[in-house]
This record gives sequence, structure tokens and C-alpha cells, in this order.
Amino acid sequence: MSDTETRAETDAETRTFAELGLNSELLQAIDEIGFKDPSPIQEQAIPALLDGLDVIGQAQTGTGKTAAFGLPMLQYLDPASDEVQAIILTPTRELCIQVTQELRSYAEHLDIEIVAVFGGAPIKSQQAQLRAGAHVVVATVGRVKDLISRRSLVLTAARFVVLDEADEMLDLGFIEDVEKIIRMCPSGRQTALFSATMPPPIKRLAETYMYDPVTVKITPKKLTVDSVSQAFVEVAGKQKTDRLIELLKAEEPEQAIMFCRTKIGASRLERDLKNRGMNVKALHGDLSQGTRDGVMIAFKGGRVPLLVATDIAARGLDIEHVTHIINYDIPNSSETYVHRIGRTGRAGRTGRAITFVTPDQRPDLAVIEKEAGTTITAWEAPEDRIEHARPPRRRRRREGNEPAVIAEGEEAPAEESRAEPAATGGRDDRGEPAEATDGATKLFINRGRRSGLTEDDLEWALREGAVLEDSQISAIRVLDRFSFVEVDSDVAEQTVERLDGSRLKDADIRVEVARS
Ligand code: AMP
Repeated sequence: MSDTETRAETDAETRTFAELGLNSELLQAIDEIGFKDPSPIQEQAIPALLDGLDVIGQAQTGTGKTAAFGLPMLQYLDPASDEVQAIILTPTRELCIQVTQELRSYAEHLDIEIVAVFGGAPIKSQQAQLRAGAHVVVATVGRVKDLISRRSLVLTAARFVVLDEADEMLDLGFIEDVEKIIRMCPSGRQTALFSATMPPPIKRLAETYMYDPVTVKITPKKLTVDSVSQAFVEVAGKQKTDRLIELLKAEEPEQAIMFCRTKIGASRLERDLKNRGMNVKALHGDLSQGTRDGVMIAFKGGRVPLLVATDIAARGLDIEHVTHIINYDIPNSSETYVHRIGRTGRAGRTGRAITFVTPDQRPDLAVIEKEAGTTITAWEAPEDRIEHARPPRRRRRREGNEPAVIAEGEEAPAEESRAEPAATGGRDDRGEPAEATDGATKLFINRGRRSGLTEDDLEWALREGAVLEDSQISAIRVLDRFSFVEVDSDVAEQTVERLDGSRLKDADIRVEVARS
């Protein structure tokens, strides 16, 4: 078993996606999505998988692991065959949906059908989708078993098998079922296994079902140390909720996830925060699937800024705009700590992780610090942090999202009014309306990278569509789902008039001044 340890600092020698051997259809999709360079796990795993090797990826969500297995898998598939050629097993339906969406975006220029099958949704419509033809099935374990037993899913041609977040499947008690499913796939299959940790049962599974795998390891402590600033708050158990409210008011997260150890604890905290006027929802295993989906959609869409969750419920989620992870209950292992805080500070953003400890939990915090190889300092309010930083850190401007916490005396925003973050008006860290550069006006555009927009496209639209000079454009920023541009205030209105409702890259765009 060869073992390649990859660290973020090797970035200087990063190869391009084209150099990794991907075909032009995939390169076009990658370019449209806006990925510039492969992430470390992609750089290692993509060539190995394209060579037909089995791969163990020791990496957690946020490292780009979905593309690491998804891109070579898509290249390998034969669109002309209507059999299921690839199966991806995921521990939760949330991850299943997320992986499906991501793979579909990579397959934009390929004639490949990707079908998601998961529990809690009508099986009939999933059966119909499978009948209509699926090259790739992304699935949760229980639903796969069900579909196989109903003969709606046949895996005899599934030569590409991915086990995503294998350690989570183990924790949830699915591992024997996973083995049964693997055994239904052809013996000449190619298998990729991704897992944040490698507990003994997962190692055994790899030894039994994989052929001479290459191991690609991404050191998790790099992720936490580099991208997430970490603090702790010592607090007596009874004062935790009050302290949390103070902290949220001071930190003003755009979006925060607060982790609780138990389902009961999570619903109690949700109730307490609601009683204090906060816009918060809970995600835990006692809720029905429908409710969980509703919560996920509300949180992902930015309509709910605060989420209280248990570890299992929040597994594997890739949630944009999460600025803060709050360990309301200290995690019970350093691995869980790394996993929880890996949900913020994604893809170049900075995030903050704050852990509550009771006085008698201080030794547990020291263990986490040591094992995760990180430093967790006593929490200071943002103002104090700025004063202590040398040179003083500039306050980051908030892009398009209101503070998650409602200051006293302010009215809670109606849920619907947050549906389009920028349309409600941005604010800076002092809670004032967002200002563009002097003499410029900031405009919101309801499309971003996910619609294939690039800065060049917007520059072209501003120059050709709105007939602006270069000197009248002061900033262009493309985010995942929407974009901002800054133009001279005296041409802002005409820019909106000329571009609002026009078409750009096959999509209608809406343009408006980024203020309420
Ligand atoms: P994952 O680890 O697969 O959950 O991916 C985490 C996030 O990183 C997803 O939102 C991806 O769209 C994004 N991502 C994946 N690969 C890259 C890349 N090479 N450059 C920038 N973002 C990426």
C-alpha cells in the first residue's frame, strides 16, 4: 500500500486540471464553475483514479473530495451504455443530495444521468428514475438495499464504487450493509474509499475489498489552523445560554452552527434561543425527514442564520456562508472537533470556531488542542481582538448578508425577506448600510459562479451591455450564487436599466442596487 501525504504548502507545484489528464468536457465544466487549481486531494487522487487504481482518500468534507472521485469517475463512464456503471454510497441523505448536485454540475457537458436515491422520499419516483436510465447512482445505504431487494437496482455493471465518509457509515451502523452492497458489484471493479478517520473496521474493509490501494492523506490540522481562528469560553453549565447570546451579539455571525451533544440538548437550546427572539432552527435525529429537509433548505438559502445541530444530523454538510461554529457542548474527541470546525473557513474564507467549556472540562480542551495540533485561545470580543492585533486588522466587510443576531430594539427580519441575501441590503460590521467605494454604487446581480458567470463575463456585460468605460467600473466580485459590481454612482441607474432582465450566458439576470 503506497502512502502519499499531501499538505497544503505544496501548492507552489500544483498541476493544472488539464495536466491531471481530464478530458475537455470536464475541463470546460470546471472552468465554468470557477475552480482554478486542483486541491491537494484532487491533485493526488485524480491521476491515480484515471490510471484505474483503487484509492483511499483520508480527507474530510471541504477538501474537494467529491470532485477528486467525481471527475475521474465521470471520465470513465460510457454514456452509450444504459446500465448503472457507478455507485456512490453516502451515510446521510443530505450528503447524498449534495454529492448528486455537485456531480451534475461536473457532468454539465456530458450525456450522463446521475440519480440520487435516499430514504424518506417516495421510492416510486426513484424507481421511475432508475427505469429511465442512470449511469451513476448516488445513494444512502438503506435505500440501496431496498431498491436491490425490489429488483429496481442492479449493480452487476457497477465497476466504479465510491464509499464516501466511510467512518460515518461505520458510526451509523451501516458497515455490514456496505460490505453486502460491495459484494454485489463486479469483482473487477475500481473502488475509492473516502474517510476522515481510519478506525480499524474501515482499515479491515479496505484490506478485504480493495486491490492494492493508493492512500492519499490530507492532514486535517492544516485545515483547522490555517483557515479557522479558534477560541474557547469558560462558563458554568447553567450560564451557557446567556453567555451564548452575549457572544452571538458580539460576533454577529452571518451564519452559525451551534453543536450540541444530544438531541434533547439541541431542541432545548433551540427553544431557549427562540424565546429570546432569535431566528434559529434545529437539526437533529428526532425530527421527521420532511422537517429536516425544510431546515436544511432554510439554512442553506440563508433565510435562517442560526442552526442548532447534533453531530450526526450535521454530518458532511458543505454549507456556504457559515462564518461561525460554536461548540455549545465540547466535542467528545479531537476528531469530532476537527470535523465540526471543518464546516467553516471553507475554500479560502476565514471562519471562527468557539468552544464552550465548563471549568471541569478544561483538561478535555487541552487534549483536543494537543491532538489536533492547534491553539485555542481565550475568547475576546471582536473589538478587543482588533485592538490586540498588530497591525490592526481591517474589519471585513460583510457581503450581502445581514447580521445573524438581531440587536435589541430591532425587528426580526421576516423569513421571506432574507430569501435573496443581497436584496435586503448589506451591512458592514457596525450594522450600518453597506457602502461602496466613494462615489460608487454597489449593484447586486442574482447570478454567480454556479450559473457559469466569471468576472470577465460581467466586465463584458458592463462594457458592452451597459456601455460603461473601464474607469466607471470600480469592482467586480463573483460569488457562488450571486455577484456584486461597483460602478460610478452617476451611471448606476442606467446600468440597472440596461442590464436588468437581460440575458448573460443563457440565463436571465436581475440587477438591482444592493441596498434595501
Ligand atoms: P467537498 O470536500 O467535496 O465537500 O468540497 C468542498 C467545496 O469545495 C465544494 O463546495 C466544492 O465546490 C469546492 N471545491 C472543490 N474543488 C475545488 C477546487 N479545486 N477549487 C475551489 N473549490 C473547490
